[in-house]
Amino acid sequence: MFLIVTKPRGSFCGAAAARQASAYSVHSGDLCVILGDQLSRRSPLLERADRAADVIWMAEVSEESTHVPSHKARTALFLSAMRHHAEWLRAAGWTVDYRRLDDPSNRGALGEELREAIRRHRPRRVLVLEAGEWRVERRIESVCREENIELMWLEDPHFYASREDFRRDARGRRQLRMEFFYREMRRRHGVLMEGNRPAGGQWNFDAENREAFPARGPGAVPAPRRFPPDAVTAEVLKLVERYFPQNPGSLRHFDWPVTPEQASEALGDFIEDRLPLFGRFQDAMWTGEPLLYHSRLSAAMNLKLLEAREAVAAAERAWRSGHAPLAATEGFIRQILGWREYVRGVYWLWMPDYLQWNHLEADNPLPRFYWTGQTEMRCLREAITQTLELGYAHHIQRLMVTGLFALLAGVEPRQIHEWYLAIYVDAVEWVELPNVLGMSQFADGGRMASKPYAASGKYIARMSNYCRHCRFDPAKAAGEKACPFTTLYWEFLMRNESRLKRVPRMEMQLRNLVRLGPDEKRAIRARAETILGEVC
Ligand code: FAD
Ligand code: SF4
Repeated sequence: MFLIVTKPRGSFCGAAAARQASAYSVHSGDLCVILGDQLSRRSPLLERADRAADVIWMAEVSEESTHVPSHKARTALFLSAMRHHAEWLRAAGWTVDYRRLDDPSNRGALGEELREAIRRHRPRRVLVLEAGEWRVERRIESVCREENIELMWLEDPHFYASREDFRRDARGRRQLRMEFFYREMRRRHGVLMEGNRPAGGQWNFDAENREAFPARGPGAVPAPRRFPPDAVTAEVLKLVERYFPQNPGSLRHFDWPVTPEQASEALGDFIEDRLPLFGRFQDAMWTGEPLLYHSRLSAAMNLKLLEAREAVAAAERAWRSGHAPLAATEGFIRQILGWREYVRGVYWLWMPDYLQWNHLEADNPLPRFYWTGQTEMRCLREAITQTLELGYAHHIQRLMVTGLFALLAGVEPRQIHEWYLAIYVDAVEWVELPNVLGMSQFADGGRMASKPYAASGKYIARMSNYCRHCRFDPAKAAGEKACPFTTLYWEFLMRNESRLKRVPRMEMQLRNLVRLGPDEKRAIRARAETILGEVC
């Protein structure tokens, strides 16, 4: 028999009956699957499992690094964190069946490895926590169905909102908006609240959180706490170089937290040194400054080395103790309790259709320089080179440099989605896809964000010093020196005018189009064609 049982936290009823009916009831224990982004020591899987009877199963499979060509640092982070977790599990008395990447009999695919483990252990059931990717869930289900074994999904309590909560709240709404969701989350979870009013009398401090640096730059930004590779990580780094020599990215600077202790230190370091200025310079960019006042916590949270609740609570404590201003704290909490939860909700609400959406009918190929950083456009060179070196770029670099260029250049959403999924250490599809397709490419036609994040090179000039070192001029839309962002911005508006007319928040931007005369439009179109011909 095949059964998918998804139980809410804390309830496990009906299991006994299912157990009796299971075709493989020879072994008394369960096979408890832990995926690479499920490394919490407080996982409900561990709460449910029986140390004496159950087997924890984990597998390193090359498919996860090749179905999109994963950045070497991303693969290394997952493998190192998984190995550290397995060590901790064994020390805590669990039986762990851990399949290493270099095991000669490793089949390289999650489904095939799971099938082999089921046949070997002959468990009564397979238990798994909800996965971070639709593809992975379907694969696990199909293997269990084929092997005729009961499968039980457990809800992931790392998130504030369950998939079902989000689905229920979304039901019947014509439009979903992050802002309303976020306010409800603040109320529901009592975060930054004074009674039933938002702390400081305002839900949103965005207006205070948009500063650029002065012309002399950010000055001395506190360096983040780094975690040099230990023996486990060092072995993994060698393995990744050996198995994935062609994959993008460098391992030279690998210093990510790979255990909950390190993740917790990284959180403490951020709260102490960078949170107070996080909000103010949240949207700013600067040459040679990959991190600025950002937290660098996304990967640790996505792998569940760090609980989102811990990060939110630590930030709120910092404000209540007078260490950080309210605007900075609210800005940080909004990203986690608001955006992070919201994108997870919409991912599970709209998958698998979401992957196919292409509202603007964009069909250009991804420019080759996304894989090399070799372009004369200084902002893109900076963001992509940093990404290849570190597997990291902060939000505004992702949204308003690499994402913006792809939007304006009309890159096919699926291609840019696959690039983002491959290239960042924190990339897991539930968070990456809505950010790319929804927020940055407007491929969902505004279901997730109320307007496309379309801007010219002038935005980048205002928020960074990149343009000062660039051969192009952000104020020019046509001619040899024209900034490609500015040219493509106007061409994007012309190309999509009829579609964008239906987007109320685009009205002002479209109104500016009227100011362009026919000659100007012709020159912009010609320049856009040259640019696209060169880069795509
Ligand atoms: P901070 O700026 O310090 O923010 C604090 C935390 O808030 C982050 O650690 C993250 O957990 C959360 N957060 C911030 N913005 C978002 C957001 N828009 N959506 C969800 N969570 C958010 N984030 C990922 O975790 N994985 C991805 O694969 C990913 N892909 C992205 C692709 C694009 C095109 C864009 C525009 C954004 C993407 N983001 C992704 C969101 C965001 O850019 C990163 O979470 C952030 O840059 C990580 O750096 P940080 O930890 O220093 O974040
Ligand atoms: Fe980027 Fe244009 Fe500025 Fe050059 S001028 S850095 S291409 S925005």
